Amino acid sequence: MDKNRFIVGHLPVYFPREIIHAANGLAVGILGGGDKKLIIKGDAYYQSYICHMPRSIIELAMDKHFASFDGFIFPSICDVIRNLSGMFQLMGEAKFVKYLDLPQNFKPHIGGVFYRHELQTILDEVYKLNGVQVTAKRLNHSIGLFNKNRRLINQLYDIRQEYPWRLTADDIYHVVRAGYVIPVEEHNEILTNVIDLIRRETGDPMDKIRVLVIGAFCEQPPVGLIRTIELAGCYIVEDDFLLGARWIQGDIDCESEDPIEAITTAYLEKSTFSSSVFDVDNPKEARLVNLIRQRKVDGVIFAAPSFCDPALLDHPILQKECNDKNIRFISFLYSENTGQFKVIKEQVGTFSDSIKLWDEPVTGVSL
Ligand code: SF4
Repeated sequence: MDKNRFIVGHLPVYFPREIIHAANGLAVGILGGGDKKLIIKGDAYYQSYICHMPRSIIELAMDKHFASFDGFIFPSICDVIRNLSGMFQLMGEAKFVKYLDLPQNFKPHIGGVFYRHELQTILDEVYKLNGVQVTAKRLNHSIGLFNKNRRLINQLYDIRQEYPWRLTADDIYHVVRAGYVIPVEEHNEILTNVIDLIRRETGDPMDKIRVLVIGAFCEQPPVGLIRTIELAGCYIVEDDFLLGARWIQGDIDCESEDPIEAITTAYLEKSTFSSSVFDVDNPKEARLVNLIRQRKVDGVIFAAPSFCDPALLDHPILQKECNDKNIRFISFLYSENTGQFKVIKEQVGTFSDSIKLWDEPVTGVSL
């Protein structure tokens, strides 16, 4: 590996990886231990009534899985992650630990100024790691690569919406997730090859409903759960599993003389919606309904990690909107290490059957 290259781990939901790339670093997504890591020590750090992911991250840290990381970014998703960033600071796991307060105010002179300052703090930290100056030229180049990455992932989802039988939801999940641990240049190549493959007809259409899965933006569902939803009669055509990779909706200006400003503006104007953000002027229930229409889904699956406050506080608001618009939905909880899917399979199967047998698709109702 390039001796000047450093590794910065970042948690969900969104972090502008461009600034790490431009400094000759590799941003690696930390998404928990999934169902692969037995939690013993991690339980001692948290009370029992919080989600699972932070415990597995502590366990991974204590077992030295992050030994080669130089820094960590903890985006402000919830209080649990704020506490986790404090624990990492106390544990002295890396040369720097940054709690990145993503603004909840989307006005340029307030949230914008604040966010810019946050990004500059990170740039100052990474400069200390290898002395690489992030010039406008370097940062614009990195932004261009991540623009391409977002465009390719969106293409993948667009093809999936039209022809969901060509690649399973868990295949897409793995393809997108690979981008959390490898350089963006390599990921762009993989995405290009996969898109070339699924542009051609492959597989056979099946009699399944199209669903949107929402609530899984932070702690990731086990892959078996994603598979179960599809095996139970659904095509997942939209989700928020790895939302950070698609957070910015559209390109970021990559020809600006002030690319930090361009990243800031994109966050303020092009962020998607999520339970981790409260944008008072842009209600997420309306944005959810728009997405449902755009993806032409038949129903919504609310799947949230157990004890996930942001998701569970939002769900009643989003579900009321679905009820008001006559959009069918179901809801269940999971944990990253859930191992039994039988009950979920029955619930999703019943949901799928009921829509196929008795319901008009959601595109047929007046929204
Ligand atoms: S799963 Fe929910 S509660 Fe847990 S860390 Fe993520 S946002 Fe916070």
